[in-house]
Amino acid sequence: PRREDCPVDTNELGHSTWSLLHTIAAHYPAVPTRSRQRELQQFIYLFSELYPCENCAESFRKQLKRNAPDVTSGYSFSQWLCRMHNEVNCKLGKPVFDCTKVDERWKDGWKDGSCD
Ligand code: FAD
Repeated sequence: PRREDCPVDTNELGHSTWSLLHTIAAHYPAVPTRSRQRELQQFIYLFSELYPCENCAESFRKQLKRNAPDVTSGYSFSQWLCRMHNEVNCKLGKPVFDCTKVDERWKDGWKDGSCD
């Protein structure tokens, strides 16, 4: 079997999960309805219970206690998520991501056209 047909490890799972989460943020409405806001908030809390890396999920739940998800707009949610991801980056000794670039990375593609 090919490598991509094997069970995922923590890094691969993390990479795919961040892609999903940031892409959800990129598609979240600029002006979400109340019920959409409630759904996203529930999703984040349920995610933090179900994420299948126990240490990761536990520390994510601690982050959530300090910093509740801001689901009030697309902009505020994608910025909140960027900050959460940066806390994990710091813990793992990875570079901090510039949150002003979140739309280029996850929504519109880079301004230099490299994603076109
Ligand atoms: P990733 O961190 O997976 O990032 C993927 C891509 O996202 C990057 O290439 C970059 O383009 C972009 N990016 C990076 N930072 C940001 C940001 N702040 N905002 C927007 N985009 C960004 N691993 C552990 O070993 N221990 C843990 O405790 C742990 N906790 C985790 C908690 C959660 C909720 C998740 C989803 C993952 C966790 N992981 C943990 C996995 C870890 O965060 C990485 O996913 C993994 O180490 C692979 O890293 P990577 O270098 O592929 O980049």
